[in-house]
Amino acid sequence: MGASTLAEAMVNPMLDGVLDAGPKVAPPLEILKESGQREVFCGLTSIVWLHRRMPDAFFLVVGSRTCAHLVQSAAGVMIFAEPRFGTAILGERDLAGLADANEELDRLVKELLARRPEIRTLFLVGSCPSEVIKLDLAKAAERLNRQLLGQVTVLNYSGSGIETTFTQGEDQALVAMTPLMPSSDKPQLLIAGTLADAVEDRLVDLFGRMGVGAVRSLPPRRSTELPPVGKGTKLLLAQPFLSATARALIARGAELIPAPYPLGVEGSREWMAAGAAACGVAPAQVAAVLDPLVERGRHAIAPHRETLAGKRLFLLPDSQLELSLARFLSRECGMELVEVGTPYLDRQLLASELDLLPAGTQISEGQDVERQLDRVRRAKPDLVVCGLGLANPLEAEGFATKWSIELVFSPIHGCDQAGDLAELFARPLRRRSLLSFAA
Ligand code: SF4
Repeated sequence: MGASTLAEAMVNPMLDGVLDAGPKVAPPLEILKESGQREVFCGLTSIVWLHRRMPDAFFLVVGSRTCAHLVQSAAGVMIFAEPRFGTAILGERDLAGLADANEELDRLVKELLARRPEIRTLFLVGSCPSEVIKLDLAKAAERLNRQLLGQVTVLNYSGSGIETTFTQGEDQALVAMTPLMPSSDKPQLLIAGTLADAVEDRLVDLFGRMGVGAVRSLPPRRSTELPPVGKGTKLLLAQPFLSATARALIARGAELIPAPYPLGVEGSREWMAAGAAACGVAPAQVAAVLDPLVERGRHAIAPHRETLAGKRLFLLPDSQLELSLARFLSRECGMELVEVGTPYLDRQLLASELDLLPAGTQISEGQDVERQLDRVRRAKPDLVVCGLGLANPLEAEGFATKWSIELVFSPIHGCDQAGDLAELFARPLRRRSLLSFAA
C-alpha cells in the first residue's frame, strides 16, 4: 500500500500531495505533503495536562462557549477541587465590536484573582474567536502585568485551532515562559516537555545514578520556579512537538542534544544515553545503569509483541508523537507500517527518529482527511491510530482504533513504561479478536 499510494500521488493530478525529500532525510523516506481539511483538536486541549503540572498557575481561555466546552469535556468535570482553568466568554456584543473586550477581560481577571489569591502565573490563552476579533492578548498581558505587579505574572499564548494543533498548545505555553527564565551559564541538563511527575522523578533519579547531578525541567512544577538557561545548558526534549520552545531556548544559549524520544526501550535508552554523553558521562557508566532497565523493558514488551507482530498499522496525523510511536511499534513490536501521518514534521527535531524508521516508510505531513480516510479504507490496516473524532466512524466501519490523545495523557515515557505503551496498542487488537471469536 505504501509504495502504491506514493506512486499515485506523483501521477494523479487529483491528489494535491507533493513529494519532498529534504536534505536531512535519508533517501528511502519520502514524504507526502497534504494541506486539505484537518481533523485535529486545537491547542486549548493541552491545558488539560499543563494545569495539572503547574498547580499554582491558572489558564484563562479568552474564547467562546465552544472553547469552554472543549476544555471542560477534555479535562472532565472537577467536582471537589476549584479548577485551574476557565473561559472568559466572548459574547455576541464583543464579537460584533459593540463592547470593549479589553475592559471586560481586565474586570474578569481582577475578579478571578480576588477569589483565587494563590494564583502565581496567569496564562491568557487566545482562541479562534479572540483572533478573529483581533483581541491583542500580548498587550492585555502587558497592561495587566503593570497593574498587578508583584501579585501575579500574566503571560499569553495562542491555543486557537487556526494556529495550533493540540500538542502545539504546550509548545506555545512553554515559549511564553522562556523570556522569564533567568540567565545562567552553569552546566545543567534541561528536560523540556511535560512528563508525568512520577516518570520525571524516575528519569531524574537515573540521570543522578549515571552522574548527572544538575537536571532541571521546563515546565517546572511551580510556575514561579523557572529553570535558568544559558551556554552551559544541554537541552533534551522529552516531546517531539516543541519546535518553537527548542528554538527559543537555543536562542538563549542552550545546546540541543539530538536523540530519539523516550518512547519504548530503544528510544528511552538512546535518549538517556545522549543526555548523559552530552554531560560527559562515560558509556560504561551509562550501560551499568541502563542495561538492567533495557532487559526488564524488553521482557515487559514480549507478551504484547505476540499480539502486535506482523499487524499493519496506519497512523493518522494528530499528536506529533506519530513518528516516535511508529519507530517503537515497528522496531520493538514488529508491526508493519502502512502510513505514518504527522500534522507537522520538524526535520531537525525528528532527524534521529527518521533515521530509525524502516526504509520505504510512507510518511505524510499535514492532512486532507477524506483522501487519507480513502487510503485507510483501501489499505485495510489492522489498527488505526487517530484523533477522537475519527475513531468512532472508523470503528463503525470495522477498523480497530487507538485514540492518539490517550497517549498524551498516559505516563508512557521511559524504559519502565515500554510494556504499558505496547499494551495500549495490543488492547484494541485483543478486544477485536475476542469480539470476533464471540460472534
Ligand atoms: S479555539 Fe477554536 S478550535 Fe479551539 S475550541 Fe475554540 S473555537 Fe474551537
